[in-house]
Amino acid sequence: MNTPSAQPQLLEQTQNGPVERPDVSVVIPLYNEEESIPELYRSLTEVLEALGRPYEIIVVDDGSTDGSYPLLRRLAAEDRRLKVVRLRRNFGQTAAFAAGFDRARGDVIVTMDADLQNDPRDIPKLLAKIDEGFDIVSGWRVNRKDRFLDRKLPSMIANRLISNVTDVRLHDYGCSLKAYRADVIREVRLYGELHRFIPALASQVGGAVAEVPVNHHPRRYGRSKYGLSRTVRVILDLITVWFLGTYSTRPLHVFGTLGLGAAGVGVLLGVYLALVKFIGHQDIGTRPLLLLAVLLIVVGIQLITMGLLGEMIIRTYHESQGKPIYIVREVLNGDE
Ligand code: UDP
Ligand code: MG
Repeated sequence: MNTPSAQPQLLEQTQNGPVERPDVSVVIPLYNEEESIPELYRSLTEVLEALGRPYEIIVVDDGSTDGSYPLLRRLAAEDRRLKVVRLRRNFGQTAAFAAGFDRARGDVIVTMDADLQNDPRDIPKLLAKIDEGFDIVSGWRVNRKDRFLDRKLPSMIANRLISNVTDVRLHDYGCSLKAYRADVIREVRLYGELHRFIPALASQVGGAVAEVPVNHHPRRYGRSKYGLSRTVRVILDLITVWFLGTYSTRPLHVFGTLGLGAAGVGVLLGVYLALVKFIGHQDIGTRPLLLLAVLLIVVGIQLITMGLLGEMIIRTYHESQGKPIYIVREVLNGDE
């Protein structure tokens, strides 16, 4: 895993000449943050140069409509360690992260926001933790500088929920400032707005996660790109992550259990009603209980069928992508 950074390999020719293979890739999704760019670039470069390791900065312009792109283009013309990936339209932060990860060549990938809320000076701290052997190091905004009602409160609730549902215990899932070992992040498939779940997803593929306290600053320029509606989406995403993590290779266990439970209760109620009718000689045609019994049986059968469909989909998923149901860390004396 550890590349001998003492002997940098010449890998790639760019318009600006050959570039050393980077050791650290910093991936930054950016959407309409023109005012922040000059300072972001300056402070980040300062920190990264002080590291003494070859690096690259990958800014993913997520369809900015302000002056961000021309500005980035100017900076990139001067500095070949700055890569700019421009998406065709605004695809959202998660997609922007994925676009950056796909192009990152470093062994370690650091992510952060473009709006100067994260502090590049925390990067060495994260990298030190990675060097200790962790696969993912997540920033914890101990002193978060955001509004309480629509930011900190929802995220407190979300953090609690996520930490209870996933088995990764962090204080702050939403912090973008994180560092990853590149091979771990490559195992993680990102969809929707799942970037805050990367630690949870990565731990599902077997990565070791650590958390370090980091600085946080108020947003100085521009506006936040999110509102309160994000909370609902986070909760729905949490259900997805829980399901994929726990049951993705056995969907019938979730749906089937619910289905058998519902149908079982329905059948018991039906038997009881049959006894009432045939032994007690009472009319049951108008009883709400009859309706409930029928409903439970129908719903139960549907849930079981859904589970079976899920099983088929899961098989297609794994087999069509040649995706095994396990992930190998390393093989000794193998041919791999
Ligand atoms: N961002 C992005 N695409 C989007 C929304 C946001 O690339 O559709 C970037 C944004 O430019 C910033 C980061 O994601 O660098 C975090 O966004 P923001 O600061 O608005 O979120 P907050 O800090 O308020 O949670
Ligand atoms: Mg922000």
